[in-house]
Amino acid sequence: MIVKPKIRGFICTTSHPAGCEANVKAQIDYVKAQPKINGTKKALIIGSSMGYGLASRISAAFSCGAATIGVIFDKQGSDAKTGSSGWYNTAAFEKYAHAEGLYAKTVNGDAFSQGVKDEVIELIKNDLGKIDLLIYSLAAPRRTLSDGTTVSSVLKTTGGSYTNKTIDLKNMTVSDVTIDPATEEEIASTVKVMGGEDWIDWVKQLKSAGVLADNALTLAYSYIGPEITHPMYYDGSIGRAKAHLAMTAKQITADVEGVNAYISVNKALVTQASSAIPIVPLYTSILYKVMKEAGTHEGCIEQMQRLLSQKVYGERVETDGEGLIRMDDWEMRPEIQAKVLELWEKISTENIDECADISGYQREFNQIFGFDIDGVDYEADVNTSVGIDSIK
Ligand code: NAD
Repeated sequence: MIVKPKIRGFICTTSHPAGCEANVKAQIDYVKAQPKINGTKKALIIGSSMGYGLASRISAAFSCGAATIGVIFDKQGSDAKTGSSGWYNTAAFEKYAHAEGLYAKTVNGDAFSQGVKDEVIELIKNDLGKIDLLIYSLAAPRRTLSDGTTVSSVLKTTGGSYTNKTIDLKNMTVSDVTIDPATEEEIASTVKVMGGEDWIDWVKQLKSAGVLADNALTLAYSYIGPEITHPMYYDGSIGRAKAHLAMTAKQITADVEGVNAYISVNKALVTQASSAIPIVPLYTSILYKVMKEAGTHEGCIEQMQRLLSQKVYGERVETDGEGLIRMDDWEMRPEIQAKVLELWEKISTENIDECADISGYQREFNQIFGFDIDGVDYEADVNTSVGIDSIK
């Protein structure tokens, strides 16, 4: 098939297998050019097919030399229809890992379900014995609970409604958007989906199955950001879920013997999940411009490589006064934030290219789905029914 992008708002309904493979290969090459990390040897990554989870898996495997099990929720392609980019990313990851003799297996299914938990525990028991690192990197829109009901997360404020600038990713224009407050029920559902309930469930089940090594580490990812995004994010419904996630980290460390849990507060980046949030993508595109000019811009792979090499597997786990790992340290530097705020105040549709890295943002968005990648022939016929080695 000759695959072209079909972008619908903040999602692309097609993905390019060769582009996704090139994307994964570039991340592997980046990691292999860095000094090796004396870190995890056996890791489980939940949400490992895209964004921060994929980059974590690549860094664990190709820098630490770890055996990895990934949990993904993706669609395989056929000759008539492309698969999801997470599927192609995982196929490429396993191909390159296996070529270097690294153990890599993947479970494709809903990470919230008991069936997937049972399957993963069985796999660890049979193949690895115990894991020493669990990364929980889910960004899910909904969760089906054990009683069969489904709850959805919302991206809304709490308290009153909030108006600020946003970017329309369809035509790259800047306009005002008003975000309505979430109801108490919507907030509770968002916490159920994106809070820590499922994370601690995973940890407790892995512990009682005897598949966690002594002094195992577990990490989940969060975001704080500057005040302009707070009503939408930090103080919004998603922020409530992230507060629950942070509380859960403390609860895991206190209640599950021999396990240390941390929240890593990561940088704002273009991923499938973050593109869906109003206001934040406009902030991110300005941040890209400012951090690129300052020479401090990082993508998912640079963030995750620095996380493991410097913050997690250095002399000790490096945290702030609240016990959080701050991978947003460069983003939150006062001089970066001052410049972002100055541009935020003056940005409009007319000066958008001057105030923000719109082309960089768009390019990274396309790259999530395997498009806009140098060296990929987008006119060539490609096999869209690629298989993942470990999934038969
Ligand atoms: P992403 O959309 O790139 O990746 C999410 C992953 O979760 C995908 O692999 C997806 O397949 C998987 N997933 C979703 N639902 C699933 C399910 N039910 N079962 C199994 N897998 C499932 O998202 P991301 O931006 O990398 O987000 C990962 C984490 O990082 C989230 O907790 C997010 O809040 C956090 N974070 C993101 C940013 C950012 O700017 N992107 C910043 C800081 C923190």
